[in-house]
Amino acid sequence: MSERTVIERGEETFYKTYNRFPVVFDHGKGVWLYDENGEAYLDFGAGIAVMGLGYGDPEFTQAVKDQTDKLIHISNLFYSRPAVEAGEKLLAASGMDRVFFTNSGTEAIEGALKIARRYAYNKDQSHDHEIIAMHQSFHGRSMGALSVTGNDHYQEPFKPLIPGIRFAEFNNLDSVKALVNDKTCAVIMETVQGEGGIYPASQEFLEGVRRLCDEHDMLLILDEIQCGMGRTGHMFAWQGYGVEPDVMTTAKALGNGLPVGAFLARGKAAQAMVPGDHGTTYGGNPLVTAGAKAVLDIFKKRDIPGHAAKIGGYLKEQLDGLAEECDLVKERRGVGLIQGLEFICPVGPIVTEALLKQKLVLISAGSNVIRFVPPLIIEKEDVDEMMKRLRAAIAAVKKAD
Ligand SMILES: *Cc1c(COP(=O)(O)O)cnc(C)c1O
Repeated sequence: MSERTVIERGEETFYKTYNRFPVVFDHGKGVWLYDENGEAYLDFGAGIAVMGLGYGDPEFTQAVKDQTDKLIHISNLFYSRPAVEAGEKLLAASGMDRVFFTNSGTEAIEGALKIARRYAYNKDQSHDHEIIAMHQSFHGRSMGALSVTGNDHYQEPFKPLIPGIRFAEFNNLDSVKALVNDKTCAVIMETVQGEGGIYPASQEFLEGVRRLCDEHDMLLILDEIQCGMGRTGHMFAWQGYGVEPDVMTTAKALGNGLPVGAFLARGKAAQAMVPGDHGTTYGGNPLVTAGAKAVLDIFKKRDIPGHAAKIGGYLKEQLDGLAEECDLVKERRGVGLIQGLEFICPVGPIVTEALLKQKLVLISAGSNVIRFVPPLIIEKEDVDEMMKRLRAAIAAVKKAD
């Protein structure tokens, strides 16, 4: 079956919620992906910030293979060693008190929202609690996560969503203050907004929201699904601010491609839910937690966050250089290996040209931003190669105009 037929059959088969690029990937190695013709693509998207260790890491792959042979699933009615060990390691890395493993990021958000509701309910048994979320945020596609996602385009066709959500402006503390009342139980935000265009929280904003939460006994929920797991140079982005959340979510790079996420809580928030309040059939099964445990071990052993900080600094310099020389680029934003280049025009043509002609995988974040979320194991020469291909793609698109 030719590549073309696979694409056509895919088009006939999948529910049409995606516009896919016409490429069929077959295997990967390190920071490279290969299509069915053996053509190599440099990957700066990492399966949307998932493949932190890149493709085919021998230690990670072996851990998953070994667990596959032993035991894949048992349900959460029993204990398994990989789940306990991955959980302990996640608590140690985050300083949180409790963890709940989920199958995805959006489910981690659902759990975090339920903690907020439960926490407030425990105080007054009322049903009118409010949560403050941010404009231009992204927290997932399930109805709860969508309700706190500040994107009209995503929300509009699916209303009514869950009630009691109010939207503030990211990095504008006054706009958050203005929404707080005695019914507000939580503030949820990404530490670095990803999908919305790569906007890091400012130090003053994060500190200010933390203070506000303390003053009003509201929970601070930080969504670290995209920006966490070493990407900013810290294990979790909030660790770079010295501001602790009450509840945090992780997923994407946690399983290096295995479907595993988690919500974590500390202090009073870690006590809010009780047995029977939440559950999942697959969540944190031995297979995915063996993978997460291997990821956490490798992160520590090879200091992956430290490497991300170093290479991230280099990537930032190179992107700043491009921003200066290219009149199509408005600005660069980001921290470590989560970077964005905002263009003065839609980036769709550049991303497509890069992929199909330059064999460079890039993804966008909104219409005008190219997002750089490569595997965390990239080296300087990968950045140099990416820049070369990106420049060529920009030049080709400019020429075509
Ligand atoms: C990807 C993402 C989610 C949703 O995760 P899924 O695994 O796709 O459900 C939530 N929040 C942020 C910040 C994300 O980047």
